[in-house]
Amino acid sequence: MIAAIRLRGKGKGAEGNGALKLADLLDDAVLVRARTLAKIMEAASKAAGAGSLEFWHELGEEAGEGMASLLIAKMKTKRARIVKFLLGEARSAGWGKITYCGRRFGGIDGTLRIEDSPLLRIDPTGGACQLYRGYVEGFLKKIRGSGAVSCSESSCVRKGSPFCELVIEKGRESWLRSVIT
Ligand SMILES: [Zn+2]
Repeated sequence: MIAAIRLRGKGKGAEGNGALKLADLLDDAVLVRARTLAKIMEAASKAAGAGSLEFWHELGEEAGEGMASLLIAKMKTKRARIVKFLLGEARSAGWGKITYCGRRFGGIDGTLRIEDSPLLRIDPTGGACQLYRGYVEGFLKKIRGSGAVSCSESSCVRKGSPFCELVIEKGRESWLRSVIT
């Protein structure tokens, strides 16, 4: 409620309001250490067995879609501003420094670089990378409103890179639809 009042009070949406924080918009945020989360992920990965990476990818996708839905409903501002807001909040929320570099003006295609993420650095399973990948796909799919978004990892801290980088592309499904209709 406080967040909603602040948003309306400024009349310009979240971006123009430096006081708005992600925590203001969430009513169920939990603060947990990355090492604890990594241990939980390791145990869950063992339980999921061979399908563990897909398990984390799907879980991330669901979480990303859920976050986008929540921010769309609560922020009531332009979708591009919501993306910018979440990217800006990621670091203080402990998810790392996330930089988006778009390839085309107004498009969703581009690359997303994730640096200084404690979870990515210590996760022994590779599940965290899949969690991020799914999250970005789910989040952007919801933000875009229609059609799939796919991400592939072009650099990874697990392969010696100083960051993980995702290449974001509009899914083939939406491309087909745009040709047909
Ligand atoms: Zn990675």
